[in-house]
Formats: sequence, structure tokens, C-alpha cells
Amino acid sequence: MKKPSIVILGAGYGGMITATRLTKQLTANEASITLVNKHDYHYQTTWLHEPAAGTLSAERTRMPIKSVLNMNRINFLQDEVVEIKKDDKKVILKNGEVEYDYLVIGLGSEAETFGVPGVFEHAFSKWTVNGAREVKEHIEYVFAKYNNVEEKTDDMLTFIVAGAGFTGIEFIGELSERMPELCSYYDIPRDKVKMYVIEAAPSALPGFDPELVEYAMNLLENRGVEFKINCPIKEVTADGVILASGDEIKAATIVWATGVRGSSIIEKSGFDAMRGRIKVEPNLRAPGHDDIFVIGDCALIINEDINRPYPPTAQIAMQMADVCADNLKSLVTGQGSLKTFKPALKGTVASLGGKEAIGVVGSRKLYGAPASFMKKMIDNRYLFLLGGPGLTLKRGKSPL
Ligand code: FAD
Ligand code: NAD
Repeated sequence: MKKPSIVILGAGYGGMITATRLTKQLTANEASITLVNKHDYHYQTTWLHEPAAGTLSAERTRMPIKSVLNMNRINFLQDEVVEIKKDDKKVILKNGEVEYDYLVIGLGSEAETFGVPGVFEHAFSKWTVNGAREVKEHIEYVFAKYNNVEEKTDDMLTFIVAGAGFTGIEFIGELSERMPELCSYYDIPRDKVKMYVIEAAPSALPGFDPELVEYAMNLLENRGVEFKINCPIKEVTADGVILASGDEIKAATIVWATGVRGSSIIEKSGFDAMRGRIKVEPNLRAPGHDDIFVIGDCALIINEDINRPYPPTAQIAMQMADVCADNLKSLVTGQGSLKTFKPALKGTVASLGGKEAIGVVGSRKLYGAPASFMKKMIDNRYLFLLGGPGLTLKRGKSPL
């Protein structure tokens, strides 16, 4: 009998952990495993605010896929997914197609604009390795340019971060930490630089512990960041942003971080979706498609306690990958029953640049150096789960 073919789309947190678990849980005779990814490397999305601001090399955030997965067991296809033809059980790629018996969708997310015009034309919105490189290069370019133009305008060195969620806060944390070094290197007086974080909700980090939010805001304000809270951005233009109030803030650099939606491949492939995310069954399968699992930012699960979706996080993507691999093993071997996914939330820790961070772990609030230590340990824990102590020692962060 032909062995079943498992195809995993996307080598992010969800896809990589699913792939690594399956190579250990199934023998080569039980199933073939194919991983499809746009690039031949895996990157840690959760580190990207650092290379974007230029506080860490982009190289540190990525690794060749073949250096971490058991390539004797994985058939790796470097290609771009174009569409999933679920009725034909195949995936259309830019350069071919691949058939599956079981499919795992782990294609991550894309920027959510909530219909604000001008975002893709005038703001940086790609939280990928190449997106981070572009932001960093742009920041250095505007600094380098400033002293070479006759007519200097304020907006040349004005930086706007749209959205004070964790992505926006972590990015401005890195940028504000680096600002003294940038000003010194490019011979620019510090008072020429303006940094804004613009947030639509009545608070930065809406829903997070208010004491820690205050800690973060005070710290960032002391580094020169100005918060505009309760100020939805209604348009992005070539010159800056227009707020709902009608006020305009001119800026040469706008970094978009107002949240995410699932991969556009989901809607293009005709799945029922909410903001690009498929509301999965408790065993992580797409409703009506017993051969398709959906994990990570493409999957939507409701937190019944508050009747709202769980946030799309790497923490949840990794936990989903574990359950997805176990369930695939049950289906392939015909042993055991399918597991129900239940997130085990361990907390949230966000870096603020340098040795600063805030977080809640279990019932403990952390800030400052202990939070920064914890954040690096969390980053390293992922490397440990993916590639054991070897990968952690080779690519991990020094926690001190
Ligand atoms: P991803 O990890 O995004 O991986 C998707 C993969 O699919 C990528 O390799 C991509 O190249 C590939 N892909 C996409 N489209 C295609 C296509 N068409 N064809 C082929 N391949 C494709 N979460 C936390 O829990 N903790 C944090 O500290 C944290 N920090 C974050 C910091 C930043 C700056 C950002 C932006 C996010 C952060 N998150 C954090 C959220 C977290 O990164 C995501 O929830 C997580 O990456 C989702 O994992 P995933 O496997 O669904 O997708
Ligand atoms: P988010 O949805 O958490 O935050 C986006 C923010 O943008 C919100 O506060 C929202 O009110 C604001 N916003 C929306 N539209 C706006 C507009 N027009 N003008 C101004 N503000 C606007 O999104 P995110 O920060 O990109 O995070 C995405 C996911 O990744 C979340 O689940 C988050 O928890 C996770 N994440 C976690 C960490 C961490 O744990 N350290 C770090 C980064 C991201």
C-alpha cells in the first residue's frame, strides 16, 4: 500500500516544530513528509524588531532549514504556495504543484491595515527578514542623507510607529535604545529626531497589566518617544500620516504594526475565514476537511472565558504544532484518538531595548533586567525545542 504523504506549508514556528516532531514520531515507512517554504531558511519572527531597528544582525534571526531538520526524512521544496486545491488534494506552487494525503497549513500572517489607505505604498509593514533589512537600511539612509541636503526638514528624522501593540512597542524599544548611537555616528543633534508611537485604543498595549504598561511608557518617554494614544491613523501618505482628528504628522519613516491577519492564501483557496484565519475544530482540522490541519497565525481558536480569539503568537503556534504532529501520527498509524488542543499560556514578556523588558510570567510581574533575562531565555527555549542544546549553544542569546 502507498504510504501517506504529509505536506507542511510554511517553515515558521508551527511548520518547523511539526516537521521536527513528525520525523521523530513516524518512521520513513509510515509516511513521507514534505515541507514547502518560500526561502531555504527558517527565521524567528519574534526576533525581527531587533534587525529592523539595527540592534541585531538579520543573520542572527535566520538559519538554513537543512541545518536543523533531518533532511533524510524531509523532502524540502523551496517554492511559494499560490493556492490550495482542497477538492483535488493538491497545492499549486509558483513552480509546480504537490499532492497530499494530509496537509498542514502554517503560512503565518500578513499585515492588517483595517482598510487604512496608503499603508502598503508608504509604510514598512513586512515583518520578515527582508522586511527588517529594508527598515534598517532606510533608517540609516535617512540619517546619512540628513547632513548632505541643503534644505533640512523636520520630517526627515521623524519616525512613526503605527500601533502600540507588542510589535510596535518592541520595535520602538530597540530604535529608541539605538538612537544615541545613530545620532553620534551620523553627527546629528539628538533634538533633531522625533519618535512617535500612535495608537488607536485608549491605552498602549491594550489589555496588558496597567502597571507594566506605565513602566514601559515612562521608560520610552524618557528615551524621547512621544505617545499619541486614542489617535487612530486614518491614512498614510507619501508625506506622513493623517489622524482621525484630521491632524497630519509628517514623517519620512512609518513602521506599520497595527496587528495581523492570516495568510492571504487561505481566502484565495476558498476557506471560510475571519481575517484570513480558519476557525479550526478542537483537533486543529479545518471544518469539513478531515485531511487539513491549520496551525499558528492561520488558525483561529476562541478563548471561551472571554469569548474572543486567542492572540496569534509563536507560543500558541508551537503548542499547536505538538498537537498537530500527535494527531497526524494517530491518523497515519490508526492508533489512538485525536487530541484536543488547549493552549497552556505561560505568560508574555516583551523587550524594550537594551536590558529593559516587561512581562507577566504565571502570576509574577517582571520588569527591567529580570524581565530582559526572561525574554532571552524564552527566545533560547524555542531554539532548544527545535534543535536541542546544540542549536541553543550555537544560535542562542546570552541572557546577561
Ligand atoms: P511564521 O512563523 O510567521 O512562519 C510562516 C512561514 O511561512 C514563514 O517561513 C514564511 O516565509 C512562510 N510562507 C508564508 N507565505 C508563504 C507562501 N505563500 N509560500 C511559501 N512559504 C510561505 N509571539 C510570541 O509568542 N512571543 C513573542 O515574543 C513574539 N514576538 C513577536 C515579535 C515580532 C516583531 C512579531 C512581528 C511577532 C511576534 N510574535 C511573538 C508573534 C509570532 O511571531 C507569530 O505568532 C508566529 O511567528 C506565528 O508562527 P507561524 O508558524 O504561524 O508563522
Ligand atoms: P496587536 O493587534 O497586538 O496590536 C496592534 C495595535 O495597533 C493595537 O493596539 C491596535 O489598537 C492598534 N491599531 C489598530 N489600528 C490602528 C490605527 N489605524 N491607528 C493606530 N493604531 C491602530 O498586533 P501586534 O503588536 O502586531 O502583535 C501581533 C501578535 O503578535 C499579537 O498576538 C501579539 O501578542 C504578538 N506579539 C507578541 C510579542 C511578545 O509576546 N513579546 C511581541 C510582538 C507581537
